[in-house]
Parts: sequence; C-alpha cells; structure tokens
Amino acid sequence: MILKSYAADPLKTLGRQCIETKSTTRNDFQRDRDRIIHSSAFRRLEYKTQVFVNHEGDMFRTRLTHSIEVSQISRGITRTLGCHEDLAETIALAHDLGHTPFGHAGQDALNNCMKVHGGFEHNLQSLRVVDFLERRYASFDGLNLTFESREGILKHCSINNARNLGSIGERFINKKQPSLEAQIVNIADEIAYNNHDVDDGFRSGLLDFKALMQNTLFSRCAKVVNETYSNINDGQKINEVVRRMIHLLIKDVCTQSQKNLDNYQPKSINTVRNLPHLIDFSASIKKEQYELKQFLRHAMYEHPHVAKMTQDAGKTVEKLFTHYIKKPQAIPENFSMNRPADSARMVADYIAGMTDRFAIQAASEL
Ligand code: MG
Repeated sequence: MILKSYAADPLKTLGRQCIETKSTTRNDFQRDRDRIIHSSAFRRLEYKTQVFVNHEGDMFRTRLTHSIEVSQISRGITRTLGCHEDLAETIALAHDLGHTPFGHAGQDALNNCMKVHGGFEHNLQSLRVVDFLERRYASFDGLNLTFESREGILKHCSINNARNLGSIGERFINKKQPSLEAQIVNIADEIAYNNHDVDDGFRSGLLDFKALMQNTLFSRCAKVVNETYSNINDGQKINEVVRRMIHLLIKDVCTQSQKNLDNYQPKSINTVRNLPHLIDFSASIKKEQYELKQFLRHAMYEHPHVAKMTQDAGKTVEKLFTHYIKKPQAIPENFSMNRPADSARMVADYIAGMTDRFAIQAASEL
C-alpha cells in the first residue's frame, strides 16, 4: 500500500486525550480498531437492526454485518486512493456504535423523549460511547481513541452540541472537512445501506424485481445481467445486480475523487480539512444514487409492514424512557455508577445501548 501525502498518518496523530505508552506491535489506528472490536457496544451491534427488527429473521443485515460491509467498501476505496486503510477500517467499525435499538424509529422516539433535555443524536452518541460510556480501562473512561478516529466517528453534529465538544466539535462551527478516510467511510456507508436495503427488501418480499426496475441505476445493471444470463431466478438476479451496483458505485467514487484530488493537490491531512469535501460520486451517479435512495425510502421505510414496526418500536422506547426517568434506580448500578441519579442523559444512554431484543424484553416486563 502506497500512502499519499494527504493520507492520515498514525505517526503524526493529533493524539489521545489521555497520554499512553505506544504499542510495540500496532500503529495507533490499529490499536483504536482493536479497542472497538473488543468493546461491548460493538458486540451489541449484532442484535441491533436498521430496517427489520432483529427477531424478524436471521437473513437480514444487522448493524454488525452492516459495519463490516462499510469497512470492506471503505478499505477498497482507501487502498485505491492511497489513504490510510487502518483509519478507515476503525471509523467504519465504530460509525454505528451509538445507534439505538430499532434503527431510525428508535432514534426518532428517543430524540423526542429527550427534546427538553438537549435531544438525542446518534452520531454524537457514537462519540459518547468511545469517549465515555465504554468502561474497560482503569486509567480512563471510554476507549481513549486518537483524534483522527474520533473526528471520523462524529460524522454530523448540531452547532449547539459542537460548542460543548472542544477541538473535536470545531469543524462543525468553522465548516471544515474531516480526513479523507472519514469522508470515504461516509460515502461507503451510503453505498452499503442502499445496496443491502435492495437485497434485504427483496428477500423480505417488500420489494419486487419489477418495482426495482423503475430505478435508473438498478435497471442499467439489471440489463447487463439479463443479457449475460438467460436462465437464472430473481434471487440470483438480485445478487448479480447488487454486486454490479456496488462495483459501479465504488469505481465511480474512486474516479471522481481522484479527479478532485488531482485538481486540489492537497499536501497533507490538514490541507484536506480546509478544502471542500473531495470524496464524492460523479454528478450523474449522484443523481442515480439519490433516485434509488428516495425509491427505497418510499417502498421500504413507508411500507405498511415497516411503518407498523416503526410505530411499535417508538412506543417501546417511550415506555422505557417514561419508566426509567421516574425510577432511575432501576438502571443497573454498574451503568449508573458515578452519575447523577436524576440525569435524563443517563436514561438515554442506557436505552440507546440496548439491543432490540433486550428493549422488547425490558418493556414487556414493565
Ligand atoms: Mg451506517
């Protein structure tokens, strides 16, 4: 792997909040990645979902398999562009750590419950997990990750919250960009979820081949598949189309981003932070990708089956929140340790950390 001058460099990291002796076997980004893999929040991703609730079937993506897919796509793009693969892998594996149970439905419900207490943002929550909520080390709370990993994990943040975050929040106030590795994970996330929503959507019966053919990107790839294979079933066809779409999108990102890099010629990660964002799709593919995203939103997320599940999930989160806000002593001691007992934030942290099935079980026992 040839690293370009604009890549993040573990030897020049802006460092950890708590100074530690360097590892002799791993660079700083690899060490961050390993801390994430060994965290309990990472293990819980296995039982958290995006669209389908965990018990609906074993074939659908979970947050864990999604994070691994994002990591795979990110690593491919970083290698092609000469960026730092370890940092991209770290950010990708951690990017969804702050997600509540039940995907967006859970997040919306928790945000609603927290309205008068400063709200709830899942990106900020991912940072809270690695900065504070994981308690594995004697010398510090959280995982004490490098600035570069934390910068990438905090993808979005409201200006109000950014003001309370010190140096990690500054870029939202000053409208600056994160590292290229962080930008790559961002776009890899989009590639991963649109494509696995097509795949899971088809498998669940919410989407059919004919409906998918209304999409420019999908139908373009499907045309190639139809011309190449005459005798395959719809399931095989979907797989062949999805892998072509992923390939096409990755290739497009690499080509367009390389053009942007050639154009701006950033000499360092710091120059990157002061330029417009450089990792992007070409204009035409961006349009097609957006079309697919809108289609999926309508066909899947607004499907009566998913809408019903969304409603139930929202009610579960509200029920849990109402209960724990009145009875914070019901929160396990090892979680509430050293925190103000009346803190709504503690309740939100506790609920956000739950898996789908844990939340369902806890709500049913109330
Ligand atoms: Mg994601």
